Amino acid sequence: MEYKSKFGFGCMRLPLTDKNDPTKIDQELFNEMVDLYMEKGFNYFDTSYAYHNGFSEVAMRKAIVERYPRDSFLISDKMPTWALTSEDDNDKFVNTMLERLGIDYFDVFFVHNINVPWLKLAEEHNTFEYVKNMKEKGMARKIGISFHDNAELLEKFLDKYAELIDIVQLELNYLDWEDPAIEAHKCYDLCVKHDLDVYVMEPLKGGVIVNQPEHIQNDFKEFDDSKSIVSFAMRFCASLENVKIVLSGMNKMEDLIDNINTFENFVPLSEEEKNFLLEEADKLREDLAVPCSECGYCLKACPLEIPIPEYFRLYNHHKVQPESNIYRLYYDKLGDEKVPASDCTQCETCIDYCTQKINIPEELQNLCQHFQEGFSPYGK
Ligand code: SF4
Ligand code: SF4
Repeated sequence: MEYKSKFGFGCMRLPLTDKNDPTKIDQELFNEMVDLYMEKGFNYFDTSYAYHNGFSEVAMRKAIVERYPRDSFLISDKMPTWALTSEDDNDKFVNTMLERLGIDYFDVFFVHNINVPWLKLAEEHNTFEYVKNMKEKGMARKIGISFHDNAELLEKFLDKYAELIDIVQLELNYLDWEDPAIEAHKCYDLCVKHDLDVYVMEPLKGGVIVNQPEHIQNDFKEFDDSKSIVSFAMRFCASLENVKIVLSGMNKMEDLIDNINTFENFVPLSEEEKNFLLEEADKLREDLAVPCSECGYCLKACPLEIPIPEYFRLYNHHKVQPESNIYRLYYDKLGDEKVPASDCTQCETCIDYCTQKINIPEELQNLCQHFQEGFSPYGK
């Protein structure tokens, strides 16, 4: 089975019928999107055990597996590394994933979210040996990791495991390319050095790249108003030679159509365009209060279940629109409905889990001061 394009359908943020319930996937709209994606000749779908609390896999079975021949699409799935409690769990999770998807092999299988604590868990539970066996038995055609840490850890990991895997799924986008906390450029170069394929996740940094302040949107219009901001971000990733897949998590038909336009007649990024994007990245970083991608992994770590990404989203929105009082009201509402940000005990448990290397307790403290006292660490 061939990869038909670098454009992959990410199934982490599918359309919902109830935006407050991630299990309520809009199956009808998702089916229509799958139909258009397949009709246009694309064929790669990415999910994980955890996306939509397991319902991403179920929705994919209904939209893809039950409606298309198995040899017409490729599916990748991921081991929930953080949930491993014994070696037997490897089997248990894989069987659940196969059952939810209604398939008997994976085209690609990843060990999900390698960072310091979860690499330790995967090693303790023999997961790398397990996925190697999956490949040998034909249960996974290709194997890899999805990686969420810095270049130092990736270098150590690849020195030990590069021979075993085919792919590294990296968070890569023009905002993180030269970011010293994420080190996307360095991580990409390490994969090239080890001759590994790179699959890209978060090409839009969880939407941060799309929801830009007005002055940056104006820069894009002035530079080239015939292309969408998203198309620049996708082309930035897909123009890299070792990048074989760029995932896009789409929850609207118009997002899919925009991506189809980008990839149907793909034009690699020019040097001038690349320089423009890197300049805009510097400006955008200055405008963000917190570079949160809303991946949600910190939620698995916080013992108080503070809705960290929801607070950070409000914080960023208010930085872009400091004159608006609405975010202050949302902040109060969130604290009433869920757990107040001020309940953070500064225990620091979440820090190692943040894919963006954000000092979460420190930023929650800044955010509380900002919203409660009108004080802003960025001077507005
Ligand atoms: S530092 Fe705060 S947000 Fe982080 S895990 Fe502890 S209580 Fe939760
Ligand atoms: S704070 Fe970090 S781990 Fe939590 S959602 Fe944001 S980027 Fe992800």
